[in-house]
Amino acid sequence: MSLDNTSQPSVEYCTDTVNARHMHGRPEHELVPSRYALKVGTIDVTVVSDGVLSLPGAMLGHNADPAVREAWLHDMFLPPDVLEWALNVVLVRSGDRTILIDAGIGMEFPDLKRAGQLIRRLEDADIDLASVTDVVLTHLHMDHVGGLLVDGVKERLRPDLRIHVAAAEAKFWESPDFSRVSMPPGFPDALRRTGKQFLKEYQSQMRLFENEYEVAPGVLVTRTGGHTPGHSVVRLASGGNRLTFAGDAVFQVGFEHPDWYNGFEHDPEEAARVRVRLLRELAANRESLVATHLSFPSVCHVAVDGDHFRWVPGPWEY
Ligand SMILES: [Zn+2]
Repeated sequence: MSLDNTSQPSVEYCTDTVNARHMHGRPEHELVPSRYALKVGTIDVTVVSDGVLSLPGAMLGHNADPAVREAWLHDMFLPPDVLEWALNVVLVRSGDRTILIDAGIGMEFPDLKRAGQLIRRLEDADIDLASVTDVVLTHLHMDHVGGLLVDGVKERLRPDLRIHVAAAEAKFWESPDFSRVSMPPGFPDALRRTGKQFLKEYQSQMRLFENEYEVAPGVLVTRTGGHTPGHSVVRLASGGNRLTFAGDAVFQVGFEHPDWYNGFEHDPEEAARVRVRLLRELAANRESLVATHLSFPSVCHVAVDGDHFRWVPGPWEY
């Protein structure tokens, strides 16, 4: 798979999107709304799907035996060579704050056109961009910040918007190290470019934290490192309930094979240590887990199963 990092969305794609939204002179609603709401104590949580990314199967674990990797995909009823990656974003309301956690991939990558749906889906959920008081970014990879770089989005956000990012993450993207990753061609350049563009566009609104920061009552962002040096997770706690948004610390394969190195991890050994530590903790305290690339809506629990982990999907609530 290639990613042409200089091209723009094709005219055909833009026209299709506009037509779909304004057929018969009014916006069309999607058959599948791709959002899911739940409560953590008094905190409102909405998981919104930005869409799906199709990536090479090897991204699962570039240190794994290809035959074992293929067998895992087969066991999961997935094709042998393509990984269909969910792309989940979370909106949290706590007290008087409305907090967007990550922002999807945006519209800049026509090869990945099944994703980039976030802005439209927030609108469909009657969530006004101007109501967002805070953005928390787990890290600055393009599938987590791209939605904020879509034309016209910055102008619709509040001028006093606060964007919370680990200081180590902002520093990393000034001169990022890609020597340990294993990504498809085109991705490192696209990631470098979007990371730098994000820092330039939003510098004045960024609120950097060292290790953790309480964004709102019961909403704590905590740096883990590993995936990227400033990768962070968001811990929600209210009324005895807990939920963690793990960003890219946990992937679907990570329950059974937490030691497999994902192709997008900048420090794979540390990323694996972070994953095991987090999964152990979530299994022990029985809290809910949501993660960017777990199958939508991704609300689940973690169980310990011998020397690895088991993914336990949450019950459907509606
Ligand atoms: Zn990601």
